[in-house]
Amino acid sequence: MCFNFQILEAEVPFETSVVIEGRRIIDIQFFIDQIKTLNNHNTATGCTFDNLNIIKERKDSLKSSFTFLCNMCNMQFQLFSTQSSAAKMDVNQGAVTGALMIGSGKSNLNELLASIDLLTITQFTYEKCHDEIATWWQLAAENSMQAAAQEETSKAISCGDVKDGIPVLTVIADCCWSERSYQTNYSAASGVADIIGYRTGKVLYIGVKNKYCVVCARAAVKSVLPASHKCFKNHTGSSTSMEQSVIVEGFKTSLARQNVIYGTLIADGDASTYKKIFESRPYPNYQVQKIECSNHLLRNYSGKIINLCKDTSIPLQERRFLTADRQKRLRTCWHGWHADAWPSNMLFVFEGHKI
Ligand SMILES: [Zn+2]
Ligand SMILES: [Zn+2]
Repeated sequence: MCFNFQILEAEVPFETSVVIEGRRIIDIQFFIDQIKTLNNHNTATGCTFDNLNIIKERKDSLKSSFTFLCNMCNMQFQLFSTQSSAAKMDVNQGAVTGALMIGSGKSNLNELLASIDLLTITQFTYEKCHDEIATWWQLAAENSMQAAAQEETSKAISCGDVKDGIPVLTVIADCCWSERSYQTNYSAASGVADIIGYRTGKVLYIGVKNKYCVVCARAAVKSVLPASHKCFKNHTGSSTSMEQSVIVEGFKTSLARQNVIYGTLIADGDASTYKKIFESRPYPNYQVQKIECSNHLLRNYSGKIINLCKDTSIPLQERRFLTADRQKRLRTCWHGWHADAWPSNMLFVFEGHKI
């Protein structure tokens, strides 16, 4: 077995041992094996681990290396808390990944680490690990989307959905923002939209749009040019147009990325996204179709029934007809109706009021 501990130098002057405080994260078997090897570091003098004193700890956020000095033979050794491996995340990368997975950040991560009496992670290391992880995730996401496209392609071909030799897929698309809109406030600074294969339920395309960058914004306030930076601002215009922008990009690049046509779009009742796709003409010989998403349609339907119940311009005795039980039955009734049967300009009327 090969260990990372190193003999630093021999015949050095005696140095005072230091007290190591707090707790450390270690690769347990790796650390024990290093100690075992150090126990027989000099058979000529018969030194053991008892003769070793820690004289220095070098910290790299959650990773440590300890320098030991033998009080018998004066040799120095270095032990590492964790093992480095190209095939595995190190402890710092693992901690940052954990923070990202739970929607946290450096401050929260350090509060947790400090509470356990572990070392904390520095700003520099956090940012470095964050960038590395982002690159890995981007690569993994791209590979996953390519595999999903292959799966969708096989299913489309087996169903005969092919146009001029190119598989034609049915896809679902939707968007969400960093801030809830409550159907009135569409001012979020970031939005993410994705395109999902209907037959596999797997993501085929995802895009993020930001209309705010703190470096650019601060420079604008001072009326100066921003310093060189990695700018995350990639969108101008309204927050609602982020959805159209990402989805249109997905359609326009599907042939080049995955050699497929996104032939039918299942989406919410908002016609603007489909209009933008239609105008962008992503496929020279194919016109994209649209199907209304039943979930969105029923949500809007239920929402409008609830609004009717609150509409004081309607006499109370009439609104009382819309009991909670009847609202549920109306929704269930519509759910049983096949989506293909819904006209695109569907209009419901209750007591003369449009729903
Ligand atoms: Zn020794
Ligand atoms: Zn910027």
